[in-house]
Amino acid sequence: MSQIDSRLAVALAASDMSDAPRIGLCMGAALYSGPRLLSLGYNRWHTHPESDNSGYNVSLHAEHVALLRRRHYDRRGRLTMYVARQREDGSLGCSKPCANCVRLCKIAGVARIWFYDYNGKIEEMSL
Ligand SMILES: [Zn+2]
Repeated sequence: MSQIDSRLAVALAASDMSDAPRIGLCMGAALYSGPRLLSLGYNRWHTHPESDNSGYNVSLHAEHVALLRRRHYDRRGRLTMYVARQREDGSLGCSKPCANCVRLCKIAGVARIWFYDYNGKIEEMSL
C-alpha cells in the first residue's frame, strides 16, 4: 500500500465518525504536515440541535472540521489534505472537495489535496 493509499484509508476511517444519515454521505478528511498526522475531520450533519438541515450549507464539511481541529500550524506548503468517502455498496465514492473547502484549504496553507474521483480513482489537486 502506498503512502497516499494509507493516508486516504485514514481519511476513510475518519468518515465513520460522521453523523450523516446515510453511509454514502459520510465524508472523512486527514490533514498531514509532512509525515505527521495533524488532525482528522468528518462531516458534521447536525451542527445545531434545532437545525433541520433543510439547506445544503448547514452541515460542516470534513475538510473544514480537520482544519478547525488541528492544534499545530506549520509552514505554508507542507500541509496535505486527504479526503475519502465510501458509497452504500462499499466502493469508494467521489470525495472531491467543494469550492468552499478548496478556498479554506488555500487560506490555511494546504499545498495539495488527494481525493477519489467518481470512478474511485485517486486524484491530486495542487493549490
Ligand atoms: Zn466542502
